[in-house]
Amino acid sequence: MVDLKGQYLKIKDEIDAGIQAVIDSSAFINGPAVNEFRHHLSQYMGGLNVITCANGTDALQIALMALGLKPGDEVIVPAFTYVSSAEVIALLGLTPVMVDVDPDTFNVTAENIRKALTPASKAVIPVHLFGQSCDMEPILALAEECGLYVIEDNAQALGAEYTFSDGRRARTGTMGTIGCTSFFPSKNLGCYGDGGAIFCSDDVLAEKIAMIANHGQKVKYHHSIIGCNSRLDTIQAAVLDVKLRHLDEYSRARSDAAAYYDGRLTELDPDGRYFQIPVRQKNSTHVWHQYTLKIRNGRRDGLKAFLAERGIPSMIYYPLPLQEQEAFLGVARAAEDLSNARECAYSVLSLPMHTELTHEIQDAVIAGIRDYFEL
Ligand SMILES: *Cc1c(COP(=O)(O)O)cnc(C)c1O
Repeated sequence: MVDLKGQYLKIKDEIDAGIQAVIDSSAFINGPAVNEFRHHLSQYMGGLNVITCANGTDALQIALMALGLKPGDEVIVPAFTYVSSAEVIALLGLTPVMVDVDPDTFNVTAENIRKALTPASKAVIPVHLFGQSCDMEPILALAEECGLYVIEDNAQALGAEYTFSDGRRARTGTMGTIGCTSFFPSKNLGCYGDGGAIFCSDDVLAEKIAMIANHGQKVKYHHSIIGCNSRLDTIQAAVLDVKLRHLDEYSRARSDAAAYYDGRLTELDPDGRYFQIPVRQKNSTHVWHQYTLKIRNGRRDGLKAFLAERGIPSMIYYPLPLQEQEAFLGVARAAEDLSNARECAYSVLSLPMHTELTHEIQDAVIAGIRDYFEL
């Protein structure tokens, strides 16, 4: 599904030098590379505050902690997402409210968020799933109207851009109250272990977030709020600082690969009778964290097994919508209709997508799909 080794070999000298410098300095915790990366990432994101942390799940948890929510407060989250987005809500004693997604873009919509609002609604977590932005303008307008905090889960879309109706462009992760991302190795900007970051344009809130990630202290050993211990490793920061310089080039490689899949798959199934190729979210660029098909007529699992027999990997992100996850039974509230989330979970299939794809590899994937459907 990914080729991290191939990607590494192309930047090996830079990466090795960065890691070696950290080891030579012995500054393993909060070494200078962390601040340098933070600074460069902030520049990349348009200048807002960046707080690094241990992983993307922590980023979401810390973001919620910083908003001072109380037990019983409701946080709206799409039912079709990775577990982290909802897990942290429940972990903090808040109530996840699962809402449906758009069946084509897989992203949550303002319309579905509105339907789930109650007087207890305090925040919403739009997830920019698979690499493209949710339609943020109506979501931000609704949040403004109803006094909701917006925490963007940008773990899959770092580098994507959204265009507002007035022509203003913004990177995903910079539009809400707080943005969160993950540097898990297979993410678009991945390190060689765990890592995460939080984005916040409000300086006061950003300071609170930094304190929470650091045991609730600003001055060492003086703890003013309850926090946690969530740090980005210096070695990981050194890796990320190198890879950030290549992020746009990586996004282009993914985009080229997606265009090639699109073209070849459309030739195979021009009317979309067997599968649906990815649908672009209007007003957003796509950084292709995943290239995800919807397989029609209940044939998804058959196709996956057929490809596997040929040694072609494919993955189901995600096989169960949140409302069918045991952990959330009795913990979360479900919107009335979650049928799109369910239909997505039972029909999606993601194909190999990474920066090192060649047409040869993609042709083998496409031939597998062609042969399975006898096209
Ligand atoms: C990867 C991911 C996370 C969590 O990131 P970790 O670094 O693995 O904790 C959260 N949300 C989404 C949508 C993700 O894809």
